[in-house]
Amino acid sequence: MRLELSHIRRPETEFAKVFQPADLPAGDEEYRVTAPVDLRMVIHKDHDRFRLVGTVKTALELACSRCLEPFVLPVDREFDLRYLPHGAAEPEEDADEEAEVEEDDVAMTFYHDEQIDLSELLREQFYLTLPMKPLCSDGCRGICPQCGTNRNTAPCDCHPQWEDPRMAGLKTLLKRAAEGTEGTD
Ligand SMILES: [Zn+2]
Ligand SMILES: [Zn+2]
Repeated sequence: MRLELSHIRRPETEFAKVFQPADLPAGDEEYRVTAPVDLRMVIHKDHDRFRLVGTVKTALELACSRCLEPFVLPVDREFDLRYLPHGAAEPEEDADEEAEVEEDDVAMTFYHDEQIDLSELLREQFYLTLPMKPLCSDGCRGICPQCGTNRNTAPCDCHPQWEDPRMAGLKTLLKRAAEGTEGTD
């Protein structure tokens, strides 16, 4: 799953490839890739600098953070990544010229051995897709903290202490305010 940069000669090269989940290196990831990974991009070459602009589509299986059940998250993500050869220092003499090109906050990565590791690229894009709090649905009722029942599938007889959601919001605000003052110095 490596992109051989020495094979790329033209300033713009179209690249499209579908990887099967089994092609991806097995890692200890928070997600499981459950659909073929459709990677399409244009590789822009400027001497030893490369810019990869494209999309990645697939589906990831995650565990819901409330009920812990697996669910599938569709992925359709655009990326714009720049690669410099490993060890390329910003040249002093044309620093001004470089600054213009790289001022914007573009993701910049160094490549090694004339190769870009596409599995690493994909892994990064998958992680960028993951929500902070993965939920199987917005209305997921989660697991009862008292009896452990998945409340999406079965009711339970526990009586959780009811808290006014407006009070909960206020508490969060107060907590944030308190944390904010602690962190100002
Ligand atoms: Zn859930
Ligand atoms: Zn319960």
